[in-house]
Amino acid sequence: MKLTTNDLRTALLNAADKMEEHKDELTDLDREIGDGDHGINMSRGFQAVKKELEAKQDFADLGELSKLVGMTLIKTVGGASGPLYGTIFVKFANTWKGVGEAEGDALVSGFEEALEGIKTRGKADAGEKTMIDVWTPFINALKSEGDLSHAIDEGLAHSKTIMATKGRASYFGEATKGVQDPGALSSSLLLNELKEALHD
Ligand SMILES: [Mg+2]
Repeated sequence: MKLTTNDLRTALLNAADKMEEHKDELTDLDREIGDGDHGINMSRGFQAVKKELEAKQDFADLGELSKLVGMTLIKTVGGASGPLYGTIFVKFANTWKGVGEAEGDALVSGFEEALEGIKTRGKADAGEKTMIDVWTPFINALKSEGDLSHAIDEGLAHSKTIMATKGRASYFGEATKGVQDPGALSSSLLLNELKEALHD
């Protein structure tokens, strides 16, 4: 699997459209087990990313592109998810500095560093009903050359069944079982677009 700078740019433009399509759904879920701002936050952040990427089409490498995206998300997303989504792209930027195309171990390390960043920043781990429950199976499938779509779907479905023990959702306890975590859903939207950008 290979990720080129131009394909990552395209995937992010598509992800911005997906966040917009699912804005109300993300907000409704966050109203059930959070503070109701996730759809608005993700929409604001990814629309800002879209604007930046439409203004600048040529990037030297994955690092330069990821850095701009990370900084833009940190500035605009807000809430608890702003720093988490920003961290993903800051870690991409650090790992892929000067890298025009990432493949093999270099590709996997970008995603692993991003996941470690989310865990550190969110003080969370797998099994706590967060975006980590979608990122973890995605990376495992990437490492084992498994089915990425299936991994995303399975992670999302499993995260829905378990109880939230981190973040604001944890205050809702048992009531969170059976409700989709909005951060897991927005991560599945992003990862589905990143998956499309990966080629043999
Ligand atoms: Mg929220």
